[in-house]
Amino acid sequence: MGQVTRIAIVGVGKIARDQHVPAIAATPGLGLVATASLQGTVAGVPAFPSLAALLADGPAIDAVALCTPPQVRRAQAAQALAAGKHVLLEKPPGATVAEIAPLADAARAAGVTLFASWHSRFAPAVEPARAFLQAHPPRAATILWKEDVRHWHPGQDWIWQPGGLGVFDPGINALSILTRILPRPVFLQEAELSFPANRAAPIAAELSFSDGRELVVQAAFDWRQTGPQTWDILLDTEAGQLVLTRGGATLLLDGKTLLDEEKAEYPGLYRRFAELAAHGESDVDLQPLVHVADAFMLARRRTVEAFDD
Ligand code: NAP
Repeated sequence: MGQVTRIAIVGVGKIARDQHVPAIAATPGLGLVATASLQGTVAGVPAFPSLAALLADGPAIDAVALCTPPQVRRAQAAQALAAGKHVLLEKPPGATVAEIAPLADAARAAGVTLFASWHSRFAPAVEPARAFLQAHPPRAATILWKEDVRHWHPGQDWIWQPGGLGVFDPGINALSILTRILPRPVFLQEAELSFPANRAAPIAAELSFSDGRELVVQAAFDWRQTGPQTWDILLDTEAGQLVLTRGGATLLLDGKTLLDEEKAEYPGLYRRFAELAAHGESDVDLQPLVHVADAFMLARRRTVEAFDD
């Protein structure tokens, strides 16, 4: 059994600053003791230019939180696991599906935890929605995940590169909620991806899933939305229409608010990481990533207007 007390963040960018640093500070028993990033630092915390340098010369650590882009994360995870550290992977867990199994094997061999985290699953409406849908399985579902990439990902070149996932970078958050709350698994039947003429990753996606029986899930992801942003999942059941809105912060049934909370997702995510280590377990659920890989495999592709930041 292990413990997650002394944590190092690798990749000090937007999500590390916005969420990981405050969540670690807010969680009793956890401390940020070092960072490794090409340039980014956190005030008052020893900084190293790479994970290798941190492991060689840094303070003692129990765990690393990998907040780097997915394309460079596998090698860092392998390095940390080989050094006997618990590893938290930001979402998506990798740039490919197959690269994760060797990491899970390495964690098992080293007796440490690998946590492929999905922060959206820690939104307050997710577990109540899951319980509701166990009792009232949905007949149809619609996902609308539409946001302004210029606002949320300014100048992030990696997100448009192969392995950066494009609009699936936020869209996979919706899929992480969907795969948690549905009582039965679904699979992709049809998809269309829109690629800007100058980019290697899609700016929009239309997806249609089925459970092989009655349920059909339609999803629309779009990065060109200005004005109000949309992160909604609507589920039609015999007991009414259940709606998770604002990314899972709010839950409605037939328009009536059941829950509406501004609770941050990342403290729950870190509590889960610490619990996994304490119990000597890993949590590596690849379902959302499998759906994204299926979309790249099955979709028709459209070329749309070039996009510049
Ligand atoms: P980001 O702002 O580009 O930050 C990533 C950081 O990783 C960069 O600042 C860079 O650090 C560092 N980096 C890149 N290559 C590195 C390497 N080889 N070694 C060490 N550090 C390296 O991206 P982000 O938005 O934080 O996203 C990172 C991950 O978190 C993505 O998988 C994303 O899906 C996920 N995520 C993001 C959000 C969000 O709202 N942005 C939300 C949830 C999850 P330097 O600045 O030092 O060069």
